[in-house]
Amino acid sequence: MTEFIDLETQDGVRMTWNVFPGTKQEAANCVIPVSAIYTPLKPIPNVLVLPYAALRCRICRAILNPFSIVDYAAKIWICPFCFQRNHFPQHYASISEDNLPAELFPQYTTIEYESSPDVGPSVPPVFLFVIDTCMVEEELGHLKSSLAQAIELLPEKSLVGLITFGNYVQVLGRCRSLIYLRDRRR
Ligand SMILES: [Zn+2]
Repeated sequence: MTEFIDLETQDGVRMTWNVFPGTKQEAANCVIPVSAIYTPLKPIPNVLVLPYAALRCRICRAILNPFSIVDYAAKIWICPFCFQRNHFPQHYASISEDNLPAELFPQYTTIEYESSPDVGPSVPPVFLFVIDTCMVEEELGHLKSSLAQAIELLPEKSLVGLITFGNYVQVLGRCRSLIYLRDRRR
C-alpha cells in the first residue's frame, strides 16, 4: 500500500493496479479494470523546476521522460508513447550514462519547466471541460450555448479539451482558434 501512496504523492496518479496486464487474457481476467485517477495541479513537495524548455517528440509531442529509451552513442531517444526515434538537440551533446539531464533521472517522473521571455511558455494554456451528459435535451441545449460562450472568452492559442460522460466517455482536444473558425463558418 505504501508504494501506491508514494506514487500518488510523487505524481498525483492513483491506479487500480501497480502493473499492467501483459496479455489481453490477463486484462480480461482483471475483476477491477485497469484505470487511473490523475490530479492535475496537485501540489508536489520539492518539485524540480527546470530553467529550459521541455524536449518534445517530433511526432506525438510527448516530453522526454525517465521511461524514454536512450541511445547515448547515437544521441537518440525513443519516445515511449509512439516509439519515434528523436535526435537530441545540440545542447544535449554532452549527454551520457554518467551525465544525465534531470528529466531522465528515474525519481523525476514529475517535473516542471519554467516559462521565461527567453524560452517562452512550455505549452499554451490548456482548458479541460469535463461534462456529464446525462440530462434532458433542453438542458443540453443550454449547456451547449454556455460552453460556446466560455470557449469564446479563452485566449486565442489555448488548447481546449472536452471529456463527456454519459453511456460512453468521449475525449476531444482542439486548439481554440480552430474551434472558433469552425463556429464562424456555420
Ligand atoms: Zn512520440
